[in-house]
Amino acid sequence: MRTPHNGRLATWLAIVFLAATLLIVALDLAGTRQQGEGEARNQAASLSLLLEERLSSGLRETNLILQSISDSSQVQALLQNHVLSQEQQQKLRQLADAKLRQQAYLTRIDVLDSACATLFSSQRGDTPSQLKTDYCRWYHRTGVQDTGFMSTRPDAGGKNIVLALKLLSPTGEPLGMVIGTMDRQFFQSEVSKLPVGNHGEILVMDLRQVLMANWPAYPRAQEQPLGELVATEVFSRHEETLLFSANSLLDAERRIYSTRLVEGFPLRVLVGIGERDFSRPFNDKATMALLAWLFTAALTIVALRSHLAGLRQNRLLADSAQRIRQSEEMARLILDTAPVALLLVAMGQWRILRANAPARELLRMPGPPPGDKQADRTLDLPLQLAPLSDWLRDGTQADKEEVELEREDLTRLWAIVSIQYLPDHQPPAALVSLYDISSRKALEQELEEKNRQLNDMAVTDPLTRLANRRHADQTLKEEVVRCERYSQPLSIAVFDIDHFKQFNDSFGHQAGDNVLLAVANSLVDGTRGTDVCARIGGEEFLVIFPCTRLKDAEKVMQRVQMMLARTIFPFTDEKVTFSGGLTAWQPGDTPSSMLSRADKLLYQAKMSGRDLMLSDKED
Ligand code: GH3
Ligand code: MG
Ligand code: MG
Repeated sequence: MRTPHNGRLATWLAIVFLAATLLIVALDLAGTRQQGEGEARNQAASLSLLLEERLSSGLRETNLILQSISDSSQVQALLQNHVLSQEQQQKLRQLADAKLRQQAYLTRIDVLDSACATLFSSQRGDTPSQLKTDYCRWYHRTGVQDTGFMSTRPDAGGKNIVLALKLLSPTGEPLGMVIGTMDRQFFQSEVSKLPVGNHGEILVMDLRQVLMANWPAYPRAQEQPLGELVATEVFSRHEETLLFSANSLLDAERRIYSTRLVEGFPLRVLVGIGERDFSRPFNDKATMALLAWLFTAALTIVALRSHLAGLRQNRLLADSAQRIRQSEEMARLILDTAPVALLLVAMGQWRILRANAPARELLRMPGPPPGDKQADRTLDLPLQLAPLSDWLRDGTQADKEEVELEREDLTRLWAIVSIQYLPDHQPPAALVSLYDISSRKALEQELEEKNRQLNDMAVTDPLTRLANRRHADQTLKEEVVRCERYSQPLSIAVFDIDHFKQFNDSFGHQAGDNVLLAVANSLVDGTRGTDVCARIGGEEFLVIFPCTRLKDAEKVMQRVQMMLARTIFPFTDEKVTFSGGLTAWQPGDTPSSMLSRADKLLYQAKMSGRDLMLSDKED
């Protein structure tokens, strides 16, 4: 069968399809992830570059301001004289104020001499002594060529960043320094402007890894060096820039970082794009793709299941169709080879749907032409077989019923009929089996007739058709018994034809027979049906009159005598007479005692001249 093969093929196709779609989804997701990572790298690199440029331009601007202050005639005069006139001080203050106004984040300008003594402060109050010490150390430690200094060490308020510039004489001799104090908010505001995503990180650090600014703000002391980020993967490295992935030192989140030095300043910027941000499209897509794939898988499985169920159903249908065909074939074989006639008759219309060969023969239906492939096709013929048609109409049950049937052509047959109703058959039908017993029936009837004849012969006198001697004896015996039991009257008459020998002798034996027949006819006509007339010898007769008194029997015998006397014979004019005795049953009588008494009376009648019936004298 092809079905299981098809089922396996469909299952494999479904598995391959699901595996292929899963692979496509996985490849697409990997691509998406890579793309997200690439974009994050670009974003980190460009944002770090942007930040670096903004910071360095801000710082350069401040440097320029400090330079212009140092170049001013007031500062030069101050350095030479260590003291400024009222007017010069006023001018320097005005210059410093103007410069401070130019640059929003520059909050203070100080001028120190080579001994770190304050010569000028744009604001009241001294620069913290610790800072001053730092400036002096730098001032004295570095050479002439190193003119700029930037301290990233926070001042006492923790808010400022300090830039210092050496003041050099026209001959290049260090004379003092100009110090600009910047509000760290400058860094913070630059940092905050960068679109780094919800989970990004921006750090501005000095070369000791001390935080200058950061985003988002972390609640931790910013004076401590952060330490080095450990890269898990380095994507690109140039002189002052590095692109890598690492786990944040602050919140341990994985990010793609771009770090670079701020040109000309001891600062480093670090921009990190959070994995959660750049992998969100991937995660969203992965969730959607997974859901879509699961949906596709579910649909595929449902479709596969229904396909397999369909295949199973088809297989079952094919199997059952084959079984039906086999059983139909078997039924047809049984129908056709059964020795009995079988008819399938549709209920309702009562038309023959099927008939096997014996049935066709029995009903004298035309058979299929020889070699007809459609021999088992459904017939549609009227059922005309009385009384079977009526039985089916009435729903009569029949189980091996012997019945005489009449065909359409009025010919008859005997059959044993069984009917099996098949309400579940399509259409509802009745299976009728007919076993032809016509020939058996004919034999039976013949035998019956013969038996009847034999019985008849056993009790009948063949010439006169009266009862014979044996039957008469038997009857008399039974009647005597009945008399004894019920005390009913019983009479008998025994008589003998007078001079019968003469008829034989004169007119032949046939004439004698005719006389015997005439006597028998008179007897039959003269007696009642219940009387038994018998020929008990050559021309001797016995009449038994059950339930009859002697007088009544006498009357009957007289009537018989008269009827016989009226009989005319072609061969003689003489009357035929008989002589006999009549006797009635008496208690204690046996058949032979009665017959013996009647015989005696017969003898007496013969002796008395014949044509005489003598009766017992009743006691
Ligand atoms: P009786 O008046 O004294 O009776 O004289 P009978 O001649 O009738 O008596 P008998 O006994 O001498 O004769 C009886 C005859 O009946 C003898 C026999 O040939 C004849 N007979 C007996 N049976 C038959 C029969 O079946 N057919 C014919 N035709 N004759 C028969
Ligand atoms: Mg006789
Ligand atoms: Mg006689």
